[in-house]
Amino acid sequence: MSNSPRSLQCLLNHVENYAFTWRLHYNPSKSVFIVFRKTQKCSLSCSVTLFGSEIPQSENTIYAGCLLQANMKSDKLTERVCKTARSKIHSLYSIGVNNSDIHPVVSAKIWKRVVLPSALYSCDIWPSLSLTDMQQLEYVQRHFSRIIQGFSKFSPSLSSISNIGLWTIQGYIDKCRLLFLGRLHRSEQTSVHYQIYKFISDVHVSEKFFATKNMLQTANKYQLLDVFENNCSIIYGKKEFSKMIIKTIWSAEEKQWRAALSGDPDMSFFSKIHTMLNPNKLWQIAREDPSKRLLINFLIQVSSMKIVRKFCQLCNKLTSNYNMHLILSCFTLLDDRETMFEDILDILDVNEYVLFEDQDPDLQFLSLMGCVQGTSFEKISFTKWKRIMIIVASTVYKNKSLFAIDCRNL
Ligand SMILES: [Zn+2]
Repeated sequence: MSNSPRSLQCLLNHVENYAFTWRLHYNPSKSVFIVFRKTQKCSLSCSVTLFGSEIPQSENTIYAGCLLQANMKSDKLTERVCKTARSKIHSLYSIGVNNSDIHPVVSAKIWKRVVLPSALYSCDIWPSLSLTDMQQLEYVQRHFSRIIQGFSKFSPSLSSISNIGLWTIQGYIDKCRLLFLGRLHRSEQTSVHYQIYKFISDVHVSEKFFATKNMLQTANKYQLLDVFENNCSIIYGKKEFSKMIIKTIWSAEEKQWRAALSGDPDMSFFSKIHTMLNPNKLWQIAREDPSKRLLINFLIQVSSMKIVRKFCQLCNKLTSNYNMHLILSCFTLLDDRETMFEDILDILDVNEYVLFEDQDPDLQFLSLMGCVQGTSFEKISFTKWKRIMIIVASTVYKNKSLFAIDCRNL
């Protein structure tokens, strides 16, 4: 890095001398130089040479796996990340990472452990991404989560990600940054990278292009600056530090997700059905009994929907919650509903069934959609709950063409 063409040439001369001393050879045709600036056009024209050959100027280049842009923007970087993630999704699709082969929760683990580390490579030292760039990355993740669960592309975003317990992409980037910052703190204080880190963190610059400043800003976002300033990252130990970072980001992600859910009144039912940023409990049934996966998958789609206010063409009524109307009160589905309730009665004890029946329609609908907390199903065993959910899923799946499972024309 140099602040003038003359000193850049001087540095390149040092590189040449070093190469001569150690009998190395660097290929000038594979080298470029970049003039970093905040404007679109570069007003500086200069010529620098390496081993007598002129080095061309470039607008962007990949250095150590990280794309550097001369205009210090992140659009090309985002484009590259999205392209990598999409190509991984397509290559994994044919080997089973789709809605019918590998279980969605396992696919989500593959996403976190294979796709993201590759696509977000070097994200710990990336510049701050713009809102538009972040939205593009989040869109790719949402696309993936819908593919593996067989959801429509118009399904609610808040439920498609949280049903398999995924964080936002920003959360994963923050995790990488904080873990990298912890590694920097644990490294030898005499090492070059530690010295550079200390130098930049002590200088009062607010430039978003400095990776160190970004890391410190991230630590500040999670109120962890004290941990780093007091060298607590060393006291924690490597594993404990990593656990603490994951726990902190997880709780922040959950808080953010809950806030987004509470901001959308149409997601009020879903927010009661799926209460934690972990994989949906219903997916556990599909894991234990893979033959019921298709049924459970559809039940999750229905339970993940927004409240749909729609005219029921079966009984010519305007409904305030269309899916609830189909399950609990639509006249046309009376026979299926009675069979379902009889089957549930066979599983539950009399007092358990009375408690279930005594609930108001909202709670009854919530319990049939897999909600346990706050409903009569809170006190029944997991085995009974699982059998009931399979009965509900079979009934819902039988009439699958009637249910609203995406947000088009709401
Ligand atoms: Zn109806």
